[in-house]
Amino acid sequence: MRTVRALQRLSRVLRQSFSSGSAEKPMPGNSMLGHLTSKIKATGPISVAEYMREVLTNPVMGYYVQNDMLGPDGDFITSPEISQIFGELLGIWCLSEWMGAGKPSRFQLVEFGPGRGSLANDILRVFSQLRGALGGAAVSVHLVEVSPKLSQVQAQCLTGDQSQVSASEDEPVYRQGTTTTGLPISWYRNLDDVPRGFSIYLAHEFFDALPIHKFQGTEKGWREVMVDIDPDEPGKLRLVIVPAPTLASTQLIQADEKRRHVEVCPEGGVIVQLLANRIAEDGGAALIADYGHDGTKTDTFRGFKGHKLHDVLASPGSADLTADVDYSYLRRMAGATVACMGPVSQKDFLKNMGIDTRLQVLLRNCADPSTRAQLIQGYDMLTNPLKMGERFQFFTMLNHSLPKKGPAPLPVAGFSELGLS
Ligand code: SAH
Repeated sequence: MRTVRALQRLSRVLRQSFSSGSAEKPMPGNSMLGHLTSKIKATGPISVAEYMREVLTNPVMGYYVQNDMLGPDGDFITSPEISQIFGELLGIWCLSEWMGAGKPSRFQLVEFGPGRGSLANDILRVFSQLRGALGGAAVSVHLVEVSPKLSQVQAQCLTGDQSQVSASEDEPVYRQGTTTTGLPISWYRNLDDVPRGFSIYLAHEFFDALPIHKFQGTEKGWREVMVDIDPDEPGKLRLVIVPAPTLASTQLIQADEKRRHVEVCPEGGVIVQLLANRIAEDGGAALIADYGHDGTKTDTFRGFKGHKLHDVLASPGSADLTADVDYSYLRRMAGATVACMGPVSQKDFLKNMGIDTRLQVLLRNCADPSTRAQLIQGYDMLTNPLKMGERFQFFTMLNHSLPKKGPAPLPVAGFSELGLS
């Protein structure tokens, strides 16, 4: 618990050190670039984390707050949008973890950053189809989503029109309703507001959207890379290495770090610590899926617009910003109270979950040639190592400890071959 508080405090201080935080609302009509340049003029260069936070989640003109960016007409496409099989297999994963925990009578499905709601929708269809297996468990759905625009899209997808927005903006639960499959569903801005209790937590392409700090090793020690105004072109931004150490550069780098360029996501660390505490105390599991690495990569901060790479500093707010998830950092932050497994590649995870059999079943029941082609194409996109099969990785935190030694590792669905009992 002590480390949670320490990192939470540091993360809060880092948010405050260079800005008034995302609660600051720029004037309507003001551009994101104008907002950022006036901030930099007032307080000096801002951290990459501050830049990312403002660009993505500023409450008035943040990229996520304003856009529905997913799908073929958007800026990027994700696995749940590509194939229904993805969500169905994750639904089976949730059920298998719930069964492994002894079928607790209350079961919360919690998803971070649900995008268009497609993943939750496919999972809830599985829950509905396997209602018998769930017995009388009281299942509820909890979504952590910062974007009012996307929460509306999610509500439409998951409840039809069976949801209501809270009367006051400050309510921790800002929207509530009933899913089309009859389950209670609620929306929150923060994990802290989600009720405690046995929960399966899912985060698909969520951690990569959280703000990172960037650092560079220099002759004088670690220095932070920040965003400044380009002196030659005042309407442009550029990255600079600040000459003096910052709080982040003194606190966030491991003593034995070998890389010379490092990205750290303290907000991700805080969420993982909170999850680890919840899982250890209340039971449950978390499944994190994203593109990532195990503490080896260096410069992964990038932008996406219209499915193409986009300069991270050009027309801020018009493109998605992202950085690969450092799973070694998440594992370190999770600590010893939970068992961590992975990362394993998306291909291995989905194969262990039975994607080949599921594809065959769907193909057997489908005569329409174009739907068949779509199913096969989706399968290839998700599992082909040259497409999403290797780049995307799965990591889990569980509330039981793995045997330290011995021949039989604990079977965890997806991380070894699936056996439902
Ligand atoms: N999981 C979905 C969408 C991924 S896009 C999919 O795979 O298709 C990232 C999602 O995280 C969006 O829904 C975005 O609005 C949400 N998000 C980004 N930053 C967030 C934050 N700090 N808190 C809560 N939600 C956030």
